Amino acid sequence: MKNILGANDEIAAANRKNFSARGVVVMNLMGSPGSGKTTLLEKTLARLADKIKIAVIEGDLFTAKDAERIKRAGVDVIQINTAGGCHLDAAMIQKVCASLDLDAIDLLIVENVGNLVCPAEFDIGENFKAVVLSITEGDDKPLKYPLIFKESAVVLLNKIDLLPFTNFDLKSAREDLSTLHPTIKIFETSCTTGAGLDEWCTWLLERTKI
Ligand code: MG
Ligand code: ZN
Repeated sequence: MKNILGANDEIAAANRKNFSARGVVVMNLMGSPGSGKTTLLEKTLARLADKIKIAVIEGDLFTAKDAERIKRAGVDVIQINTAGGCHLDAAMIQKVCASLDLDAIDLLIVENVGNLVCPAEFDIGENFKAVVLSITEGDDKPLKYPLIFKESAVVLLNKIDLLPFTNFDLKSAREDLSTLHPTIKIFETSCTTGAGLDEWCTWLLERTKI
């Protein structure tokens, strides 16, 4: 495992150098299956695609369903199928980036395979990681899967409109997140009501101005 991660880190460092030289900011978007990553991405693209040039890499075990959804937003998108693999690694990103015009891109969003575990362990050369945690997943997830929340610069507490229908304890979830990662930025979002999306997009846009 150490050797695999060591080899991955070397390629990730090369990716990061390449992205930086081309002026591309890269966000590694992670979260469980069904947390709402792709829908959040659609809403994000609708708000930002006329302000900055965005490209998307979609990671899924199988199918191009998510890439087809993103394509409808009018941005360049590449689908990676891991054929059972539970995370993206730096070599997969390096390979597909050869077919992207990086010089023309301000923000590259990589939607990782739906999984709260190993996507957090594999550096792909991103500038920062973001994790989507939906209310329906439960407030115990930060303490159960600490690495992904420690590694992420930002967490989106998504489907916040469903809060009244669950026993999700927002206060304790926020406390756990702040204990694990005191500087983590927390947004409460809903792609159904639109809550928090403007704040999230403003924050994301700021992150591209480096
Ligand atoms: Mg998806
Ligand atoms: Zn994995």
